[in-house]
Amino acid sequence: MGDERTRLLKKSRETKERTVGNKVYFRGLVEFSNVCSKDCLYCGIRKSNEKVVRYNATDDEILDSCRFAWENRFASVVLQSGEISSPAFVKRIDNLLKKIKQLSNNELGITLSCGEQTRETYLRWKESGAHRYLLRIESSNRELYYKIHPKNQTHSFKKRVEALRFLKDTGYQVGTGVMVGLPFQTFENLADDLLFFKQIDIDMCGMGPYIEHEDTPLYKHRNLLKTKQERFDLTLNMIAVLRLLMPDINIAAATALQAIDPVGREKALAVGANIIMPNITPCNYREAYQLYEDKPCLDEDKELCRSCLEARIDLAGSEIGYNEWGDSKHFAKRVNG
Ligand code: SAM
Ligand code: SF4
Repeated sequence: MGDERTRLLKKSRETKERTVGNKVYFRGLVEFSNVCSKDCLYCGIRKSNEKVVRYNATDDEILDSCRFAWENRFASVVLQSGEISSPAFVKRIDNLLKKIKQLSNNELGITLSCGEQTRETYLRWKESGAHRYLLRIESSNRELYYKIHPKNQTHSFKKRVEALRFLKDTGYQVGTGVMVGLPFQTFENLADDLLFFKQIDIDMCGMGPYIEHEDTPLYKHRNLLKTKQERFDLTLNMIAVLRLLMPDINIAAATALQAIDPVGREKALAVGANIIMPNITPCNYREAYQLYEDKPCLDEDKELCRSCLEARIDLAGSEIGYNEWGDSKHFAKRVNG
């Protein structure tokens, strides 16, 4: 197994270098609000967690973070939040998208990660400047999906899959992913997740280890979990196999890897990932965006975060694609034939 794993990781690294190259692209991550209408059983900011202090960054704070990204040649930002679909929220994002484009001379690429929305909303946001969207399926197995979500209309597996279809139809570069090492999850489930990505023909993927949070319902099943190190290793295996299965997609080195291993994201870059999302959320809000325990970089300011990453990426033997969007090559082939 040891030898086989070494061969797998080596092969995926070679495949990455041959297909998407050795560059790592930055996406500055702005976690702009932890207000959420959903109750996913694993997530620390779920609606029913009354211990969470809810926040909504102001437009100016969000725009300042985006300006920082642009001035530091990050080329792209990700706006992420809990899932809200009120008309006021939809309009607010719409406005922000236009302002981000304005402040950056149309240069910043924008990825959204704001959960399930209607087809019309996705289209409206696309027309206002977003061009990538991240919506993890969390698990492609319907049964497991309902073990980690309440079984009701607000958390419908069918709707999640449908939202991914809307995103493709409306012209986004579409990213999905799963949590690795969930309670009840089997190796077969994970293999099926990879086949699901291939089948729906995704452009980008973000997979991270599941990490327990004591104020969530899933915490009671922590006795079923693999060790954190095993979940970490398994996530790297998933990234490596996905790189072989879909060689030209973008694969993110998820933040949750760093919660287990201080250089976890760099290890993911070394085995097949090519995207990293430095946290540029205003520091005063980070504490309140605790999806899981030990979330890293809670008090690290944006400037520090950048220089720390630069040094580490250098160590991982990769180069940073400053001022480059680093869009999914798979997407380009998909739409241009
Ligand atoms: N609300 C949006 C959504 O759910 O798509 C975007 C924000 S949500 C916090 C982003 C991702 O965090 C989810 O897709 C989920 O995979 C991940 N996440 C939440 N709780 C987690 C946990 N306990 N361990 C690892 N990842 C977690
Ligand atoms: Fe809300 Fe997303 Fe957390 Fe689910 S994973 S509770 S939708 S923030």
